[in-house]
Amino acid sequence: MTKEVERAIEEAQLVLVGLGTEWETPADRWKENPLYVSLAAQTESSGPFEQYLCFHDLEHNPDLEKKKAYQKLGQLLQGKNYFIVSLCRDDLIYGSGLDEGRIVTPCGGFRALQCENGCPLCGESGLLKEDVQKAVLRAVDEALAAGKPKREAFPFCPSCQKPLWFNRISSPAYREEGYLPQWEKYTKWLQGTLNRDLCILELGAGMQFPQIIRFPFEKVAYFNQKARFFRVHSRLYQMTEELGEKGVSIAKNSVEFLLEESE
Ligand SMILES: [Zn+2]
Repeated sequence: MTKEVERAIEEAQLVLVGLGTEWETPADRWKENPLYVSLAAQTESSGPFEQYLCFHDLEHNPDLEKKKAYQKLGQLLQGKNYFIVSLCRDDLIYGSGLDEGRIVTPCGGFRALQCENGCPLCGESGLLKEDVQKAVLRAVDEALAAGKPKREAFPFCPSCQKPLWFNRISSPAYREEGYLPQWEKYTKWLQGTLNRDLCILELGAGMQFPQIIRFPFEKVAYFNQKARFFRVHSRLYQMTEELGEKGVSIAKNSVEFLLEESE
């Protein structure tokens, strides 16, 4: 990464980070494993089972380069007043050392389960959070050992008996309760950035859900006189002209950019 960006982070009072899909492990990577594919072939294709396999694969084979990039991001942001908005649903950011209280992932992930019929499962959010990951991993392990999935080993809704989905945007009847408390925190934090030295790092956010990162970040940079805005993307790095000298576009894969030695 460049000295210019490093210095901008160092000098800023506040740092806003947006992480896009360049940071996400592809959700269908599990299909490269024939054992998973054979299990998937034995289940209803419309059910949540593919999500379980996706999760099992991510847990067992985390992308080490991206993990390293998160660590680097943690070093850069250490001691800073920051907030991270991420479009990633692979949860790799959690447990990376970055402060979970300063992260929002509006597309969901694998940290809770929900029912496709909207049945309230647990507590205020209606989501099931306790021990869900272990239960799913164990059931996939058993299925792999037996060569076939046992339906009753996987979590299902106590009300309607349907198998449960992970709380992800692609799931039927996506429950936004999973991220809304953090989103509220984020919008409050954002209000406090006005007219303060703000460094905005938009990393790898293309045109998928541009209303979450890309467009609002441009707006924030436009209205803040003291903002600096770095947009890093392998293809969609173009900066809107309105931002003038506040905006810098960098045509590079943002994960690789972060891991580069500074020059
Ligand atoms: Zn239900």
